[in-house]
Amino acid sequence: MKASDHYARIAQHLFDTVRTATAGRRGVTRDSYGAGESLAIDALTAFAHVQGFATQVDRAGNVMFALPDDTRGQPLLCGSHLDSVPEGGNFDGLAGVVAGLLCLMRQRDEGRRGAHPLRVLALRGEESAWFGKAYIGSSALFGRLPPALLDARHRSNGATLATCMRDVGADVDAIAAGEVLLDASDVAGYIELHIEQGAQLDDARQSVAIVPSIRGNVRYRNVRCIGEPGHSGAVPRERRHDAVFAAAHVVGVLDEYWKAELAAGADLVITCGVFGTRAEEHAISRIPGEVDSASKHAAPTGR
Ligand SMILES: [Zn+2]
Repeated sequence: MKASDHYARIAQHLFDTVRTATAGRRGVTRDSYGAGESLAIDALTAFAHVQGFATQVDRAGNVMFALPDDTRGQPLLCGSHLDSVPEGGNFDGLAGVVAGLLCLMRQRDEGRRGAHPLRVLALRGEESAWFGKAYIGSSALFGRLPPALLDARHRSNGATLATCMRDVGADVDAIAAGEVLLDASDVAGYIELHIEQGAQLDDARQSVAIVPSIRGNVRYRNVRCIGEPGHSGAVPRERRHDAVFAAAHVVGVLDEYWKAELAAGADLVITCGVFGTRAEEHAISRIPGEVDSASKHAAPTGR
Protein backbone atom coordinates (compact mmCIF):
# COMPACT_ATOMS: atom_id res chain seq x y z
CA MET A 1 0.00 0.00 0.00
CA LYS A 2 1.26 3.48 -0.82
CA ALA A 3 2.13 5.65 2.17
CA SER A 4 -0.47 8.21 1.14
CA ASP A 5 -3.17 5.50 1.13
CA HIS A 6 -2.08 4.37 4.58
CA TYR A 7 -2.45 7.86 6.04
CA ALA A 8 -5.68 8.48 4.12
CA ARG A 9 -7.18 5.40 5.77
CA ILE A 10 -6.15 6.62 9.20
CA ALA A 11 -7.67 10.02 8.46
CA GLN A 12 -10.90 8.34 7.34
CA HIS A 13 -10.94 6.28 10.53
CA LEU A 14 -10.54 9.40 12.67
CA PHE A 15 -13.24 11.30 10.77
CA ASP A 16 -15.63 8.35 11.12
CA THR A 17 -14.86 7.84 14.81
CA VAL A 18 -15.45 11.48 15.73
CA ARG A 19 -18.54 11.71 13.50
CA THR A 20 -20.06 8.67 15.21
CA ALA A 21 -19.29 10.05 18.68
CA THR A 22 -20.87 13.44 17.96
CA ALA A 23 -23.62 12.64 15.44
CA GLY A 24 -26.75 14.74 15.62
CA ARG A 25 -29.93 14.37 13.58
CA ARG A 26 -28.43 15.54 10.27
CA GLY A 27 -24.88 16.70 10.98
CA VAL A 28 -22.60 16.71 13.98
CA THR A 29 -23.08 18.71 17.16
CA ARG A 30 -19.98 19.58 19.18
CA ASP A 31 -20.97 22.34 21.54
CA SER A 32 -18.22 24.75 22.60
CA TYR A 33 -16.84 23.95 26.05
CA GLY A 34 -19.55 21.30 26.20
CA ALA A 35 -20.20 17.59 25.93
CA GLY A 36 -19.98 17.29 22.14
CA GLU A 37 -16.67 19.09 21.88
CA SER A 38 -15.28 17.01 24.75
CA LEU A 39 -16.34 13.78 23.00
CA ALA A 40 -14.34 14.84 19.94
CA ILE A 41 -11.32 15.67 22.11
CA ASP A 42 -11.65 12.36 23.97
CA ALA A 43 -11.69 10.40 20.71
CA LEU A 44 -8.57 12.13 19.38
CA THR A 45 -6.82 11.90 22.74
CA ALA A 46 -7.46 8.14 22.84
CA PHE A 47 -5.97 7.86 19.34
CA ALA A 48 -2.97 9.97 20.38
CA HIS A 49 -2.32 7.75 23.38
CA VAL A 50 -2.35 4.65 21.19
CA GLN A 51 0.19 6.38 18.93
CA GLY A 52 2.35 7.24 21.93
CA PHE A 53 1.96 11.00 21.47
CA ALA A 54 2.23 13.36 24.41
CA THR A 55 -1.01 15.20 25.19
CA GLN A 56 -1.47 18.27 27.32
CA VAL A 57 -4.51 20.33 28.28
CA ASP A 58 -3.60 24.01 28.36
CA ARG A 59 -5.02 26.52 30.85
CA ALA A 60 -7.81 27.46 28.47
CA GLY A 61 -8.93 23.83 28.14
CA ASN A 62 -7.51 23.38 24.62
CA VAL A 63 -5.49 20.24 23.92
CA MET A 64 -1.98 20.01 22.50
CA PHE A 65 -0.48 16.88 20.92
CA ALA A 66 3.26 16.35 20.36
CA LEU A 67 5.93 13.76 19.77
CA PRO A 68 7.14 12.91 23.27
CA ASP A 69 10.81 12.96 22.31
CA ASP A 70 10.69 16.31 20.50
CA THR A 71 11.00 18.64 23.46
CA ARG A 72 12.72 21.50 21.66
CA GLY A 73 11.39 24.98 22.31
CA GLN A 74 9.56 27.44 20.05
CA PRO A 75 7.14 25.05 18.39
CA LEU A 76 5.34 25.39 15.10
CA LEU A 77 1.66 25.04 15.95
CA CYS A 78 -0.70 23.26 13.59
CA GLY A 79 -4.34 22.66 14.29
CA SER A 80 -7.88 23.96 14.26
CA HIS A 81 -11.07 23.95 16.32
CA LEU A 82 -13.00 20.90 17.45
CA ASP A 83 -16.38 22.46 18.16
CA SER A 84 -19.11 22.77 15.55
CA VAL A 85 -22.28 24.71 15.04
CA PRO A 86 -25.46 22.75 15.88
CA GLU A 87 -25.88 20.07 13.20
CA GLY A 88 -22.69 21.23 11.49
CA GLY A 89 -20.28 19.56 9.09
CA ASN A 90 -17.89 16.84 10.24
CA PHE A 91 -14.81 18.24 8.51
CA ASP A 92 -15.13 21.81 9.78
CA GLY A 93 -12.26 22.24 12.23
CA LEU A 94 -11.69 18.52 12.70
CA ALA A 95 -9.85 18.31 9.35
CA GLY A 96 -7.18 20.69 10.63
CA VAL A 97 -6.54 18.71 13.80
CA VAL A 98 -6.51 15.38 11.96
CA ALA A 99 -4.06 16.83 9.41
CA GLY A 100 -1.77 17.86 12.25
CA LEU A 101 -1.95 14.40 13.85
CA LEU A 102 -1.05 12.80 10.52
CA CYS A 103 1.96 15.13 10.24
CA LEU A 104 3.09 13.96 13.67
CA MET A 105 2.69 10.33 12.56
CA ARG A 106 4.76 10.89 9.42
CA GLN A 107 7.48 12.66 11.34
CA ARG A 108 7.60 9.74 13.74
CA ASP A 109 7.36 7.02 11.06
CA GLU A 110 10.02 8.57 8.83
CA GLY A 111 12.28 9.72 11.66
CA ARG A 112 12.12 13.28 10.40
CA ARG A 113 11.95 16.53 12.31
CA GLY A 114 11.18 20.01 11.07
CA ALA A 115 13.17 23.14 11.84
CA HIS A 116 10.79 23.62 14.75
CA PRO A 117 9.04 20.99 16.85
CA LEU A 118 5.49 20.39 15.67
CA ARG A 119 2.65 20.71 18.18
CA VAL A 120 -0.92 20.01 17.18
CA LEU A 121 -3.44 22.35 18.77
CA ALA A 122 -7.07 21.30 19.16
CA LEU A 123 -8.89 24.49 20.06
CA ARG A 124 -12.11 24.73 21.98
CA GLY A 125 -14.87 27.27 21.55
CA GLU A 126 -14.28 28.67 18.08
CA GLU A 127 -17.90 28.81 16.98
CA SER A 128 -20.07 31.73 18.10
CA ALA A 129 -23.26 29.66 18.00
CA TRP A 130 -23.06 28.51 21.62
CA PHE A 131 -22.11 31.54 23.70
CA GLY A 132 -22.55 34.33 21.14
CA LYS A 133 -18.79 34.85 20.78
CA ALA A 134 -16.29 33.23 18.44
CA TYR A 135 -12.66 32.26 19.13
CA ILE A 136 -13.14 31.71 22.87
CA GLY A 137 -10.37 29.13 23.30
CA SER A 138 -7.76 31.12 21.40
CA SER A 139 -8.83 34.46 22.91
CA ALA A 140 -8.43 32.97 26.38
CA LEU A 141 -4.94 31.71 25.48
CA PHE A 142 -3.82 35.21 24.58
CA GLY A 143 -5.50 36.88 27.58
CA ARG A 144 -8.03 38.58 25.34
CA LEU A 145 -11.34 37.07 26.39
CA PRO A 146 -13.66 39.85 27.62
CA PRO A 147 -14.32 38.92 31.30
CA ALA A 148 -18.04 39.73 30.96
CA LEU A 149 -18.32 36.89 28.48
CA LEU A 150 -17.69 34.40 31.27
CA ASP A 151 -21.29 35.08 32.38
CA ALA A 152 -22.69 34.24 28.92
CA ARG A 153 -24.99 31.25 28.90
CA HIS A 154 -24.67 28.10 26.80
CA ARG A 155 -27.55 28.20 24.33
CA SER A 156 -28.76 24.67 25.14
CA ASN A 157 -28.02 23.86 28.78
CA GLY A 158 -27.96 27.42 30.19
CA ALA A 159 -24.68 26.97 32.10
CA THR A 160 -22.36 29.97 32.22
CA LEU A 161 -19.19 29.94 30.15
CA ALA A 162 -17.19 30.16 33.39
CA THR A 163 -18.79 26.94 34.65
CA CYS A 164 -18.32 25.18 31.31
CA MET A 165 -14.67 26.24 31.12
CA ARG A 166 -13.98 25.17 34.69
CA ASP A 167 -15.59 21.78 33.98
CA VAL A 168 -12.99 21.04 31.30
CA GLY A 169 -10.04 22.11 33.43
CA ALA A 170 -9.58 25.73 32.34
CA ASP A 171 -8.05 28.25 34.73
CA VAL A 172 -11.03 30.60 34.84
CA ASP A 173 -9.50 33.00 37.36
CA ALA A 174 -6.46 33.55 35.14
CA ILE A 175 -8.68 33.96 32.09
CA ALA A 176 -10.91 36.47 33.91
CA ALA A 177 -7.80 38.42 34.89
CA GLY A 178 -6.66 38.53 31.25
CA GLU A 179 -3.51 36.60 32.00
CA VAL A 180 -1.52 35.68 28.87
CA LEU A 181 -1.50 31.88 28.90
CA LEU A 182 0.44 31.54 25.65
CA ASP A 183 3.06 34.11 24.70
CA ALA A 184 3.03 34.49 20.92
CA SER A 185 6.79 35.08 20.93
CA ASP A 186 7.22 31.53 22.26
CA VAL A 187 5.70 30.16 19.06
CA ALA A 188 7.50 29.94 15.71
CA GLY A 189 4.29 30.06 13.70
CA TYR A 190 0.81 28.72 13.24
CA ILE A 191 -0.52 26.77 10.28
CA GLU A 192 -4.07 25.54 9.82
CA LEU A 193 -5.67 23.31 7.23
CA HIS A 194 -9.35 24.07 6.93
CA ILE A 195 -12.18 22.81 4.78
CA GLU A 196 -13.36 25.41 2.30
CA GLN A 197 -16.90 26.49 3.12
CA GLY A 198 -17.58 27.88 -0.31
CA ALA A 199 -17.33 26.51 -3.84
CA GLN A 200 -14.35 28.29 -5.34
CA LEU A 201 -12.06 25.26 -5.23
CA ASP A 202 -14.74 23.15 -6.90
CA ASP A 203 -15.19 25.81 -9.56
CA ALA A 204 -11.42 25.92 -10.14
CA ARG A 205 -11.20 22.08 -10.05
CA GLN A 206 -8.54 22.29 -7.38
CA SER A 207 -8.37 20.16 -4.26
CA VAL A 208 -6.28 22.53 -2.18
CA ALA A 209 -5.16 26.16 -2.14
CA ILE A 210 -3.42 28.61 0.15
CA VAL A 211 -5.48 31.28 1.88
CA PRO A 212 -3.78 34.64 1.31
CA SER A 213 -5.65 36.43 4.08
CA ILE A 214 -8.70 36.13 6.30
CA ARG A 215 -11.53 38.62 6.17
CA GLY A 216 -12.29 40.41 9.35
CA ASN A 217 -15.84 41.40 10.13
CA VAL A 218 -17.87 44.29 11.39
CA ARG A 219 -21.22 43.24 12.79
CA TYR A 220 -24.17 45.48 13.54
CA ARG A 221 -26.36 43.47 15.87
CA ASN A 222 -29.15 45.94 16.48
CA VAL A 223 -30.22 47.57 13.25
CA ARG A 224 -33.74 49.03 13.20
CA CYS A 225 -35.69 50.48 10.33
CA ILE A 226 -38.63 52.45 11.70
CA GLY A 227 -41.63 53.24 9.55
CA GLU A 228 -45.26 53.74 10.40
CA PRO A 229 -47.70 50.92 11.01
CA GLY A 230 -51.06 51.09 9.35
CA HIS A 231 -53.94 49.20 7.76
CA SER A 232 -52.80 47.56 4.55
CA GLY A 233 -56.19 47.91 2.90
CA ALA A 234 -56.84 51.50 3.93
CA VAL A 235 -53.55 53.43 3.55
CA PRO A 236 -52.69 54.45 -0.04
CA ARG A 237 -49.18 54.22 -1.43
CA GLU A 238 -48.28 57.90 -1.10
CA ARG A 239 -49.09 57.92 2.61
CA ARG A 240 -47.27 54.72 3.45
CA HIS A 241 -44.08 54.36 5.49
CA ASP A 242 -43.73 50.60 5.12
CA ALA A 243 -40.70 49.45 7.12
CA VAL A 244 -40.20 46.29 5.04
CA PHE A 245 -40.11 48.21 1.76
CA ALA A 246 -37.67 50.67 3.28
CA ALA A 247 -35.43 47.94 4.70
CA ALA A 248 -35.47 46.12 1.36
CA HIS A 249 -34.38 49.38 -0.28
CA VAL A 250 -31.48 49.68 2.16
CA VAL A 251 -30.39 46.12 1.31
CA GLY A 252 -30.62 46.94 -2.40
CA VAL A 253 -28.42 50.01 -1.89
CA LEU A 254 -25.93 47.87 0.05
CA ASP A 255 -25.85 45.42 -2.84
CA GLU A 256 -25.11 48.22 -5.31
CA TYR A 257 -22.39 49.55 -3.01
CA TRP A 258 -20.91 46.05 -2.75
CA LYS A 259 -20.87 45.64 -6.52
CA ALA A 260 -19.16 49.02 -6.96
CA GLU A 261 -16.54 48.20 -4.32
CA LEU A 262 -15.72 44.88 -6.01
CA ALA A 263 -15.46 46.62 -9.37
CA ALA A 264 -12.99 49.03 -7.77
CA GLY A 265 -10.85 46.11 -6.64
CA ALA A 266 -11.91 45.86 -3.00
CA ASP A 267 -12.28 42.52 -1.21
CA LEU A 268 -15.60 42.61 0.58
CA VAL A 269 -18.62 40.52 1.49
CA ILE A 270 -21.90 41.89 2.85
CA THR A 271 -24.56 39.80 4.57
CA CYS A 272 -27.92 40.65 6.17
CA GLY A 273 -28.55 37.56 8.25
CA VAL A 274 -31.25 38.41 10.78
CA PHE A 275 -34.16 40.36 9.50
CA GLY A 276 -37.78 40.44 10.60
CA THR A 277 -40.95 42.23 11.54
CA ARG A 278 -42.76 42.22 14.85
CA ALA A 279 -44.91 39.17 15.46
CA GLU A 280 -47.96 41.32 16.30
CA GLU A 281 -47.75 42.82 12.81
CA HIS A 282 -47.87 39.44 11.07
CA ALA A 283 -51.32 39.91 9.55
CA ILE A 284 -52.72 40.49 6.10
CA SER A 285 -54.26 43.75 7.27
CA ARG A 286 -51.06 45.28 8.66
CA ILE A 287 -48.41 47.53 7.15
CA PRO A 288 -45.27 46.67 9.11
CA GLY A 289 -44.08 49.59 11.17
CA GLU A 290 -40.67 48.26 12.06
CA VAL A 291 -37.98 45.91 10.81
CA ASP A 292 -35.14 44.97 13.09
CA SER A 293 -32.26 42.60 13.37
CA ALA A 294 -32.49 41.93 17.08
CA SER A 295 -35.83 40.62 18.26
CA LYS A 296 -36.88 37.01 18.26
CA HIS A 297 -39.37 36.99 15.45
CA ALA A 298 -42.19 34.67 16.35
CA ALA A 299 -43.83 32.48 13.76
CA PRO A 300 -46.90 33.94 12.07
CA THR A 301 -50.00 33.58 14.19
CA GLY A 302 -52.29 32.87 11.27
CA ARG A 303 -54.18 36.14 11.48
ZN1 LIG B 1 -14.11 26.12 11.05
